[in-house]
Amino acid sequence: MKVEERFLNYISHCTTSNEASGTIPSNDSEFILAQILRLEMQSLGLTDIHMTEHCYVYGKLPATPGMEHYKAIGFISHIDTAPDFSGENIKPQMISDYDGKDVLLAGSGDYLKVKDFPSLTTLKGRTLITTDGTTLLGADDKAGIAEILTAIEEIITEQIPHGDLWIGFTPDEEIGCGADLFDLNIFQADYAYTMDGDYEGEVAYENFNAANATFDIKGVNVHPGEAKDIMINAALVGCEIVSMLPADETPAHTSGREGFYHLTDMSGDVASATLSFIIRDHDKTQFENRLQKLRDITMSLNQKYGTDTITLEIEHSYENMLSVIENQMEIVNLAKQAISVEGLTPLSRPIRGGTDGARLSFMGLPCPNLGTGGYGFHGPYEHISVEAMQTAVRILKYIASHPIEKA
Ligand SMILES: [Zn+2]
Repeated sequence: MKVEERFLNYISHCTTSNEASGTIPSNDSEFILAQILRLEMQSLGLTDIHMTEHCYVYGKLPATPGMEHYKAIGFISHIDTAPDFSGENIKPQMISDYDGKDVLLAGSGDYLKVKDFPSLTTLKGRTLITTDGTTLLGADDKAGIAEILTAIEEIITEQIPHGDLWIGFTPDEEIGCGADLFDLNIFQADYAYTMDGDYEGEVAYENFNAANATFDIKGVNVHPGEAKDIMINAALVGCEIVSMLPADETPAHTSGREGFYHLTDMSGDVASATLSFIIRDHDKTQFENRLQKLRDITMSLNQKYGTDTITLEIEHSYENMLSVIENQMEIVNLAKQAISVEGLTPLSRPIRGGTDGARLSFMGLPCPNLGTGGYGFHGPYEHISVEAMQTAVRILKYIASHPIEKA
């Protein structure tokens, strides 16, 4: 089956994850696509197929004769689409021989603009798939699923020699739970790639170190007329905390490898106040310095206003996978080689967020992220070209057919 046929089939099923659910999968509809993928794996003749009660689907294509001594490679994508925008009743627009100009999204009357997505001009002449403006497209990450299964099918039909290949599809990546119940007892790859980036020449293996920090402030509330030297206004102490942080180290002022303090929520009055931050930095030392800065602020304001005025709670979220991957750069180099063979320039941008691959890397499965060829994820401007998906399929086939020797 062609990669675009698979893709169009998958996006016809709504699999929007739901942050409020508290269960995995967060939306029962994810099972419908999982079941389709399970059956497809069966008809491709994969072994070790598992569909778990939590909607993870795994399968294996065993090594061809004489290739058993190579490391097992895994490919991973996610079933759900982002809750940020509707994923229901997607009506894709297929534009063949795309002219490289703005595209009318017929359902909303809005336009997909070259001004907003300059890479559109590079897609001139290709078959472009867009939304009709009323939903997202679901290229994130159903393009990844389509590319992986198409690569597997072609590896089988073209009788390409390969080591053990594992495939894993997860629920709920978009709400940060895709790696939660990923079963490395089933999925016995030595290393893997998540297929979840944009540019088809992307191989990303650096992400943020991340923590949440919450300041709880206790004020002293007395009648304002008689408050001199007595009142401690918790809301004002909250403002003081913010004023002690570098004003230009916020998401709105940083890019690339620059970290930040991001005030995500603030509420309070005289009696009490709460400030929530997320802290991000690629560099481990600078990340720790940021957390120390929050502790120092807490200490100095407690000296000023009295012990126990402020309590600070820091919760670590995820770590930069670079510290795992840098010991196994051969898996990055293999991907770069596969991308170069396609005539593309490998691009390794530090991810300004986390990935399931980062979590999996720390669970023992080193897992860089590759590009699917899709752009504008999580909204109505999401788009992908058929040719980019075909390129991604060839990249996966190259990786699968150039396994790394076991040490
Ligand atoms: Zn994704």
